[in-house]
Amino acid sequence: MWAQTKMNELNKLSPMKIYKFGGASVKDADGVRNVSSIINRHKGNQLLIVVSAMGKITNKLEDLTTAYLNGQDDVHQIFDEIKGYHFNILNELFTDHNHPIFNDVANTFVEIDWLIEEEPNDSHDYIYDQIVSIGELVSSKILAAWLGTLRENVKWLDARNFIHTDNTYREGLVNWEKTEADIQKTLAPLLAKNIAVTQGFIGNTSENFTTTLGREGSDYSAAIFSACLNAQSVTIWKDVPGVLNADPKWFDETERIPQLSYHDAIELAYYGATVIHPKTIKPIQNKNIPLYVRSFVNPNAPGTDITDLKDHLPIPSFIFKVNQVLLSIFPKDFSFIIEENLSDIFSLFHEHRIKINTMLNSAISFSISFDYNEKKLQKLIADLSKHYKIKYNTDVELVTIRYYNQETIDRVTVNKNILLEVKSRNTCQIVMRDKKPTE
Ligand code: ASP
Ligand code: MG
Repeated sequence: MWAQTKMNELNKLSPMKIYKFGGASVKDADGVRNVSSIINRHKGNQLLIVVSAMGKITNKLEDLTTAYLNGQDDVHQIFDEIKGYHFNILNELFTDHNHPIFNDVANTFVEIDWLIEEEPNDSHDYIYDQIVSIGELVSSKILAAWLGTLRENVKWLDARNFIHTDNTYREGLVNWEKTEADIQKTLAPLLAKNIAVTQGFIGNTSENFTTTLGREGSDYSAAIFSACLNAQSVTIWKDVPGVLNADPKWFDETERIPQLSYHDAIELAYYGATVIHPKTIKPIQNKNIPLYVRSFVNPNAPGTDITDLKDHLPIPSFIFKVNQVLLSIFPKDFSFIIEENLSDIFSLFHEHRIKINTMLNSAISFSISFDYNEKKLQKLIADLSKHYKIKYNTDVELVTIRYYNQETIDRVTVNKNILLEVKSRNTCQIVMRDKKPTE
């Protein structure tokens, strides 16, 4: 109660803002300089910066984890590449090689040295989190150190002191009560005097072990901090000009969406628009905190404002997912697919960590589309085949159209065979593949 009153007072005086920078924004020394100059435009304190691992380092750390768990020979080689990448950036940024950041980063990597010296006896998910979280720890240290050369009162903060989770490694479930209490008690007063740099993606269990919040989870971290601080706004800095109505990879003509409601933003993220992580919106929507998507390449450009806007998207939006599997499940005895079968099927998808992108059930079958991954697919089929007959197609595409009409459907299905179509009032999902030349 006291903390809340204190918080409100602080908010009234000088409202806090959150900036989130993803891996692409800090992929090299120029990136770190650019991000720092964006931060430096912010006058005063009351700014919390949440940063991801640099470039594609999380993928590299995943490779390292796999190599270690499988006892591959290239464990040290992968690790050296990861370290080399960061030290190259440091060497480019800091001419003074006695700057404490060099030791600080080296010591952070020692955590991995210690771990990979031992046999991997702990749970794989636990090991994954201990290794992969190092990416964010190192990037935030480098950014804070560089920013510290440009301005006063820059503080590096360990997100694990604030974001508390259960021990579901790789997908930590946030303990909101504890997280909010610590953020309000300790972080809010710190931000009154400092600009702070912290990590996305990582949290801590009650036994003090590091967890991660799921891939691409840094946006979610920014949302957690924003909600718990009752921030004035959160800005996600991206390499695109804002939320677009389609991915330029698949569409020639795309439009930036200047204003977006929380509701539409959740729907777009859920169906696979990669601009914002789907878990991000709810916490800030609950507190009515605006989310600004801005370009770190062009920081003065308008971007997209996500707010409690009542209007829906002014134009249809298209979300493409290629490399999909469409799998149909039939009971062996041709009985109807009933609740019991469905709960069976869903548990198997959950167990194999396969996210369902769309589904449709009929009297005698149940069809599901999901991202293709050969290993996972074969394991899933092996399990499902114990009780069901399976048919599947790979190399199919899924398109989701929000605010569709016949014209938009016709546009995306030119020269395609439609394998499955699911429509709700505002959203249409089509699983399709290219027509063969003879068709
Ligand atoms: N570095 C983590 C990942 O690549 C988290 C993030 O970037 O949001 O998944
Ligand atoms: Mg990343």
